[in-house]
Amino acid sequence: MTAPANSPYAPGDLVVGMVRRPDPVPCVSCAAGEWDACRNGRYTSCGITGRDGYGAQLWCAAPEFTVPVDPGIAARGVLAEPVSVLAKAWERISAMRPREHPHCVLVTGAGPLGLLAALLAAQRGYRTFLYTRTWTTRRTSLADRLGVTPLERLDGVEPDVVLETTGAPHVLAGALDLIARNAVVCLLGLTAGAEGPSPALASAMRRLVPYNGVLFGTVNAARRHYADAVQALARADRDWLDDLITRQVPLDRWHEALERRPDDLKVVVTLETPAEDAPHSGPAQDRAEKAPT
Ligand SMILES: [Zn+2]
Repeated sequence: MTAPANSPYAPGDLVVGMVRRPDPVPCVSCAAGEWDACRNGRYTSCGITGRDGYGAQLWCAAPEFTVPVDPGIAARGVLAEPVSVLAKAWERISAMRPREHPHCVLVTGAGPLGLLAALLAAQRGYRTFLYTRTWTTRRTSLADRLGVTPLERLDGVEPDVVLETTGAPHVLAGALDLIARNAVVCLLGLTAGAEGPSPALASAMRRLVPYNGVLFGTVNAARRHYADAVQALARADRDWLDDLITRQVPLDRWHEALERRPDDLKVVVTLETPAEDAPHSGPAQDRAEKAPT
């Protein structure tokens, strides 16, 4: 190896070459050195998109696109690229679950990426299950040595983190059926042409993986979200909000609220009692009295 005088390396140092190069504009992500999250798609990738691979002639890379590797790692440094993808996945998963360590991590697929995903989960001390339909002696041994539990069927686990590496929609669908509350499902695999029984899911996978997309569920909200909501409504145009509420139905005609009418947007059931038969006390009146507090 030769190294320019101003580089951080000396001949004999081991490095890993990064795959992607920033776009020429650059976009905000590339300008910040995060070209993995390039926004305009004009990035290039060695040996993949718009740029020769490292093996094209001589292995040659600028220092800013290389990462030093400990001499003890030696040629195993070739695994740094797939592991970098997994390290990024864990960074994102942790950001989505800042207060929760996973109780159960499910890795689907026991190819190189799946096994490395199991390695990183095991290193973090998480209870990890590795699923593949095709357990070979070598795969079984690799799983055993990590202390991860092999699965031959997607069954009997309730993962709160799923790392999907097969790119197969039917595997993703099977994993989604198992997830626990607050689960994060990370898509890492892409399989060209794998439509399977769910073309819509296959198409979502093809888009979400290269676009760094996030697929997640949400239900309910915390107090701070309600506070945000109240502020958003306060800033909104009152007439606009009024127009959104197309009908108000008194409680004794509640069933009308369930009828679909052509101009319906938001239909509200009011709990107010008509003035002539308003009781002297009752829920509506209690609420009215309490409202100002
Ligand atoms: Zn960019």
